[in-house]
Amino acid sequence: MIYRFQFRSYRRKFVRSLTTNHGKWDIREGIILRLTDETLRVGWGEIAPISWFGSETLEQALDFCRQLPEEITDEMIFSIADELPACQFGFESAYEWGSEFFSIPNTQFFSGLLPAGEAALNQWETLWQQGYRTFKWKIGVDAIANELKIFESLIHTLPAFTKLRLDANGGLSYEETNLWLRTCDNLKANGELTLEIEFIEQPLPVEQFQQMLELSRSYETAIALDESVATLRQLAACYQQGWRGIFVIKPGIVGSPSRLRKFCHQHEIDTVFSSVFETAIARKASLQLAAELSRNNRAIGFGIDHFFEQEETWFQSLWNDL
Ligand code: MG
Repeated sequence: MIYRFQFRSYRRKFVRSLTTNHGKWDIREGIILRLTDETLRVGWGEIAPISWFGSETLEQALDFCRQLPEEITDEMIFSIADELPACQFGFESAYEWGSEFFSIPNTQFFSGLLPAGEAALNQWETLWQQGYRTFKWKIGVDAIANELKIFESLIHTLPAFTKLRLDANGGLSYEETNLWLRTCDNLKANGELTLEIEFIEQPLPVEQFQQMLELSRSYETAIALDESVATLRQLAACYQQGWRGIFVIKPGIVGSPSRLRKFCHQHEIDTVFSSVFETAIARKASLQLAAELSRNNRAIGFGIDHFFEQEETWFQSLWNDL
């Protein structure tokens, strides 16, 4: 099959900026792809890189798009280099666009992102009213003593039977990670908890995989890898080195959806699917993968509707020169 290929780059400002251990993030930049086949059927795709997380840069993705001819083939789509995982995702999802019936699940199956710090204590209720029952809170942003204090309030404030994920974005030290894991294990052992602490996400930097592997075997509280498994290649390497904990998969940057499916089916890994703050285009393809490949009833991390405004008008304005 031959496709007519067009693309547009975009810049979108978050309604409120995002704070993680990697710093502040205000503007999402990416590329929207459009493939038109010989029967004039259109498929949309989105390249939404996060280079500081392990994908290619926006510039590399743009260079790749610019050097492509106006007409491309299936073979070209399925042979994009592993160094361009966000491009692999964007092109394959445009190729697959509309191939399967799919409906977006209820908010109770999503995890809602709480703001960092004390603001979490006031914000959870809004998310709760919207239907969220799993919450994620960023840690490793402030001094650990302060965060443990807020955490203590948070677990006594959140309603019973909710789930809480703690995401450090690699910002903790080995000692701090032990302290968090021990605190969570103790709370559970004392029967103090009415909610569930689902896991601690990426406590240590990517280079400290062996320590995380050891910690995952020493504590009851689960650890999820995120930054460590940004791309399919990293994911396979961690699996080979013995990781049997949770894998956070960001479809937008992990690479080829077809190869991801194959890997997940073959190894039956415990996965959590998560957003890269993409627009509705990549979100559709990502949610489809999450629906296909999620196991163990884990909420998916796409509770991000409150981060962008006016999706439809924005999208039309991007393509009104066609
Ligand atoms: Mg994370």
